[in-house]
Amino acid sequence: MPVIIDSDCINCDMCVPECPNEAIEMGPAHYVVNADKCTECEGFYDAPACIPVCPVDCMHLVPDS
Ligand code: SF4
Ligand code: SF4
Repeated sequence: MPVIIDSDCINCDMCVPECPNEAIEMGPAHYVVNADKCTECEGFYDAPACIPVCPVDCMHLVPDS
């Protein structure tokens, strides 16, 4: 699960169009990243495109466990 969205998400939609893999989906309470689709933007960008656009800094790159 490379990128997670924590509960600070305000559902602003800013990150959704940034994702080249359509990995960001609405969850029960806020947006979530579909770990099966997220590639950390590999092949598209050098770094995750979603994280810098989030106004509340609630998207986090987490190491694979
Ligand atoms: S890191 Fe890239 S592929 Fe993963 S959710 Fe963010 S924008 Fe989508
Ligand atoms: S940009 Fe951040 S606050 Fe906005 S929907 Fe995405 S994760 Fe939530």
